[in-house]
Amino acid sequence: MRAAPTILHLDMDAFFASVEQASKPSLRGKAVIVGGLGPRGVVATASYEARAFGVHSAMPMAQARRLAPNAAYLVPRFQLYRTISEQVMGLLRELSPLVEPLSLDEAFVDLEVAGAAWDETSARLVGGGLRADIRRVTGLTGSVGLAASKMLAKIASEQAKPDGLVVIEPGTERALLAPMSVRTLPGVGPATGDHLRRAGITTVGEMAEAGEDELVRLLGKAHGHALYAMALARDERSVVAERETKSVSVEDTYDVDIHDRVRVGVEVQRLAERCVRRLRGAGLSGRTIVLKVRRYDFSTLTRSETLRGPTDDPAVVREAAARLLELVDTTGGVRLLGVGVSGLADYTQEDLFAQAAGEGDGGPGLGEGDRDGEGGGEGAGAGDVGGVVEGAVGERRWMPGRDVRHAVYGHGWVQGSGVGRVTVRFETPGSSPGRVRTFLVDDPELVEADPLPLVAGGCGGAGGAGAVGGVLA
Ligand SMILES: [Mg+2]
Repeated sequence: MRAAPTILHLDMDAFFASVEQASKPSLRGKAVIVGGLGPRGVVATASYEARAFGVHSAMPMAQARRLAPNAAYLVPRFQLYRTISEQVMGLLRELSPLVEPLSLDEAFVDLEVAGAAWDETSARLVGGGLRADIRRVTGLTGSVGLAASKMLAKIASEQAKPDGLVVIEPGTERALLAPMSVRTLPGVGPATGDHLRRAGITTVGEMAEAGEDELVRLLGKAHGHALYAMALARDERSVVAERETKSVSVEDTYDVDIHDRVRVGVEVQRLAERCVRRLRGAGLSGRTIVLKVRRYDFSTLTRSETLRGPTDDPAVVREAAARLLELVDTTGGVRLLGVGVSGLADYTQEDLFAQAAGEGDGGPGLGEGDRDGEGGGEGAGAGDVGGVVEGAVGERRWMPGRDVRHAVYGHGWVQGSGVGRVTVRFETPGSSPGRVRTFLVDDPELVEADPLPLVAGGCGGAGGAGAVGGVLA
């Protein structure tokens, strides 16, 4: 393991909720909850104000509503989150070619490889500079952890939250880890945690004391070895750039097009099982489930869903693939089907799946999840969860949080709708908190709008760090 704290972990603070607060001045300092708003929706992100009520990611939305009935409940605006994520990742890539994104708002960076930092002092300077740049370019805050390994850097950024920086000095790792819960270690989910607890092991220190043989006996060879090393703060995993491009996938071409929807569903389940067998065989897990469908006319669609954390659970992959299939029209017949898993990781966190999660409400399935349109694009395909949805009776449905423009009052966002009316708050990232007005849902003067940049002159993509000014309050 390296001798200096030159692995950096960045985690944006309450990312989706912070973007919404920056966009909507009336929500700053208030409890904001972003996620699927339907009956089976889950919380993707809660603002720190909402967390004070006990609301957290992956919690069923119905439970969140009981805990924080007065919070603002919004659907996610992934297009905007992705744009801001690209700005942040661009800043990270200016520091080092070795950037490993874990999600839209989280990444590891190896500072040593490019000579950006070589000791604690230089690492601190880079981390502090990065936080200032992120604030300047995006108007948002991110927390930084610095350590000699990925595991410790992630623990450090967790300790730094919100809006902070923590360095774990090499040599202090074991003492720091010893009193922490075994659940702190990557690869210890609720099931493994329970298993260890029944054996009398609740802290990392107790895990180290139990010894390698005992852990192997309890957890099996591969898992036991790996976790014993982690308990001793030995983590040699390197930062791997562009990991998300790696994937494991399987596909089948059919001699005769399949028309029967039930049969298509069965084939997809079978492919999902096969894909997971391969994934497990390679000792991997992944976060993004991809469904590929080639139709009778050779048009090929892909649909993907990104989970909050990596999985190698066949049930999770089967369910995700089934959800994705619901987004595809197969009535003309299907000649090829494929299921893949990408965003691969070495360790599986099995605790991240609130399985009741949100299909059927157009919201994110699981936590800070994502659904892409065709080929990952932004089209208004079936996979798009955005904007105005045609209701059952052809009436426009306005989703809370979405951007709108009114011919007279200008840019605003949907605060709520029901019984034929829609309530809009007219404000922009740079304005003061705005006024609320109510319209008929089919008011011709009211149309969907694109999100506005959070920082004036922003949204120019990554790399334009020097070009944008202005910091949000
Ligand atoms: Mg975050």
